[in-house]
Amino acid sequence: MTTSAAPDRHNKPGGVDYDVVIIGAGFAGMYQLHKLRQMGMSAHIFETGDDVGGTWYWNRYPGARVDIESMEYSYSFDDALQQEWRWKERYAPQPELLEYARHVCDRYDLARDISFSTRVNKLAWDDDARSWTVSTSDGKSTTARYVIAATGCLSRPSEPTFEGMEDFRGEMYWTSRYPREGVDLSGKRVAVIGTGSSGIQTITTIAPEVGHLTVFQRTPTFAVPAHNTRISDQRDAEIKANYDEIRRLGRETTVGFNQPPGNVMFADVSPEQAREDLDKRWARGGLGFSFGFEDVLFEPVANEFVADYVRNRIREKVKDPQTAELLCPTSYPIASKRMCVDTGYFETYNRDNVDLVDLQTEPLKRITETGIRVGSREIEFDVIIFATGFDAMTGALNSMDIRNGTQTLREKWNHGPRTYLGLMSHGFPNLFMVTGPQSPSVLSNMMVSIEDHVDWISQALSDLNASGQTRIEPAADAEENWVHTTNDLANLTLMPQANSWYMGANIPGKERVFMPFVGGVDTYAQIITGVRVANYHGFELT
Ligand code: NAP
Repeated sequence: MTTSAAPDRHNKPGGVDYDVVIIGAGFAGMYQLHKLRQMGMSAHIFETGDDVGGTWYWNRYPGARVDIESMEYSYSFDDALQQEWRWKERYAPQPELLEYARHVCDRYDLARDISFSTRVNKLAWDDDARSWTVSTSDGKSTTARYVIAATGCLSRPSEPTFEGMEDFRGEMYWTSRYPREGVDLSGKRVAVIGTGSSGIQTITTIAPEVGHLTVFQRTPTFAVPAHNTRISDQRDAEIKANYDEIRRLGRETTVGFNQPPGNVMFADVSPEQAREDLDKRWARGGLGFSFGFEDVLFEPVANEFVADYVRNRIREKVKDPQTAELLCPTSYPIASKRMCVDTGYFETYNRDNVDLVDLQTEPLKRITETGIRVGSREIEFDVIIFATGFDAMTGALNSMDIRNGTQTLREKWNHGPRTYLGLMSHGFPNLFMVTGPQSPSVLSNMMVSIEDHVDWISQALSDLNASGQTRIEPAADAEENWVHTTNDLANLTLMPQANSWYMGANIPGKERVFMPFVGGVDTYAQIITGVRVANYHGFELT
């Protein structure tokens, strides 16, 4: 366990405490700190949690594991690191990912520049001093020339309130803040509300342990088998011998990780060939399943074919035909909501101690002292687990009071995020976002997107320093163009058709705007490199 460090004030001659304050000690913040240190800049991280790890620090619910293969969901910036770390499973579980984060923290001696258990509440820009004042939960404030928000895309939990919650006499838990010591569920009557990735991993893992499990489903989910395995020594050696090439090829894809070759249009293959291809992808498992046909997210017929394939797989797995139909998603195109990767999720409903409640036919009325009232009945529980997701992409940034003197970022983003390249927002100089809205982020292998952004931001700071400049801000028209580009691109696809967290549709009152950049990490990397090479085209440097 790493220990907290008090901020070591540098009191630089320029009048600021640090060159850079970084918010968050997840994978983005840790790499950013390491990189800035290498550049000789003073930097400090404020982190709400009492340890590093971000997503993998908070999400400790039963069965939490990554859905991109661990060998690729890991840092590539230091060959020594990737060679020495031994991933045990194809998809690492949360404890292993947290152990990896701690290893990185210790290996690069990061903790001495991190204040743990310290939340950033407020950022205020002073244009005369060209610095940000960062106010933290310990009552202190710190000044920095630049602030880098490494606050994560899925870090602000969505905790909807259900009528009667305060009356419930049993235990209630949220997957995103599950107790680190775990919960003894043996023999208990447990409810899980939510069937996204967190819900289905929880459900699958706790079903054998609990007395009875009732799943409350509002929208069924498309899930592809993980086919998780232990990584053999031979496989580990093969990958490590070719790591550079594997990383390079991953970066050349739209999603930032290697998948079986696709690049065919559904319209160009026969239904038999299409089914054969899907069989192979299903047998391989993982998120690469949906990328066989280039037009799957553009062409409704292609999409429906793939969706139907998965629905038939669900019907094969679930013995009770009525339950199987309830588990088959029909109300949105496949992959327009984030696909899940599962290990026996659908088979869980074949167990005698598991029931499914369809909230579309039996709406959730209220929580009572002893359970949950749905439709015209009440079901009794000892424990309720909420797996209700996150205020994605903008939630963490908007939870801070970020002010530029005339406006808050929250006000500016009232009708959806407005950024240039997902890196900065006009009116908020010297404030960078790692994997911000309108960058590929959640549509990609996050580790690739994190490294791309940290490298770009670090290079920009280095170039600013080299030219004696101290202020960077995107121009209003460049931002306007980028917002249009990201919206127009998304509208070419089927993705905005779903009520997804990509659209902000899971948060009541949140403006419905498709938030990630759908053009792919490969294209995006070319764009941001091009912008840099063209003297930071679209940014004003002074
Ligand atoms: P999610 O995908 O947003 O799922 C939340 C679930 O809760 C949905 O089924 C949602 O139903 C339901 N829900 C929300 N509010 C509700 C309400 N008031 N009443 C009833 N049901 C409600 O959230 P998540 O499962 O935490 O996953 C979020 C993202 O985190 C994933 O998409 C993925 O990117 C990432 N993640 C990845 C992994 C992994 O495998 N590595 C694991 C966990 C999370 P609706 O669909 O109807 O809104």
